[in-house]
Amino acid sequence: MKNCLHLLVSFQLLLLTSFALAQPTVPTAPNFDDGQLHVVLCGTGSPLPDANRAQACTAIIAGNEFVVVDVGSGSWRKVAVNNLPAQNLSAVLLTHFHSDHIGDLGEAVMQSWAAGRTQKLNVYGPPGVEKVVAGFTQAYALDTDYRVLHHGEELMPRAAAAAVAQPIKLKSDDAAALVFDRNGLKVTAFKVNHDPVTPAYGYRFEYKGRVVVVSGDTAKSDNLAKHAAGADLLIHEVLVKPLLQFAASNFERAGNQRRAKMSRDIINYHASPVEAAEVAAVAKAETLVFTHIVPSPNTPQIEQALTRGVGDVYKGKVVVGNDGMRFDLPPKN
Ligand SMILES: [Zn+2]
Ligand SMILES: [Zn+2]
Repeated sequence: MKNCLHLLVSFQLLLLTSFALAQPTVPTAPNFDDGQLHVVLCGTGSPLPDANRAQACTAIIAGNEFVVVDVGSGSWRKVAVNNLPAQNLSAVLLTHFHSDHIGDLGEAVMQSWAAGRTQKLNVYGPPGVEKVVAGFTQAYALDTDYRVLHHGEELMPRAAAAAVAQPIKLKSDDAAALVFDRNGLKVTAFKVNHDPVTPAYGYRFEYKGRVVVVSGDTAKSDNLAKHAAGADLLIHEVLVKPLLQFAASNFERAGNQRRAKMSRDIINYHASPVEAAEVAAVAKAETLVFTHIVPSPNTPQIEQALTRGVGDVYKGKVVVGNDGMRFDLPPKN
């Protein structure tokens, strides 16, 4: 009995010590307002299960502008743990409405409001964005009521809780549309090729002579190459096609026709690493960053497959993206 008690006390002490050791330190927020164009990868995964990668999300920070391109599931946590300035969130840009690009829209709107966002949040995207925003607004309506009641209108003004859908229309399939141009940050949208999901957009960001382009989901796209011309960073989705073909054959052999067909279907509307590199070469992009990586590069074999043949078609720098990875681009002019 005495031993038992002793063990229990030791265990409790151990717990307390572990807890004390695990006490979070308050991280210092990085200084993003330094004249540079910042990019932080807040989600480099895909719809496939992945313990380390959130679904699609790329954050762009330039002065007071803080924009996220896509907000897939788990991505808002990556925004938070990377100390991005949630209260300054000035726009969400959706590339298309597959669930792995919109799953955290409710969290992005609510959490940025809770962090102190004072203006309504514009959510841009292809036509159809109205439906997505209306749905999330409805799903979070009770949560919004609770918070206003609990913390008061002064702390959490209801007017700022709202998200406003801003559909972007293109004049033609190869034209770019201006999304906004303010505080020195110019954002344009253009069509990529994610058929039958249409239109699906990529986005181009220009700030103090620097250019960052985010592909969204796309098969190899000439229009993307055109609109990515001269990019410092081209952030491009990738899917290792032979691995997906291999998985499809395995499913087929195992009698799982459903998974076999789905694996084959998704090959058609994504780009291989070499195709992404070909686009980067035509665009003369300085650095190519892989994101939305299918399958997750969690083995050395997949890592190798990701870069195989890439150097033959593209001579720039190639980076395999990870969640939390950050790029700082000093002004060029
Ligand atoms: Zn998609
Ligand atoms: Zn996707």
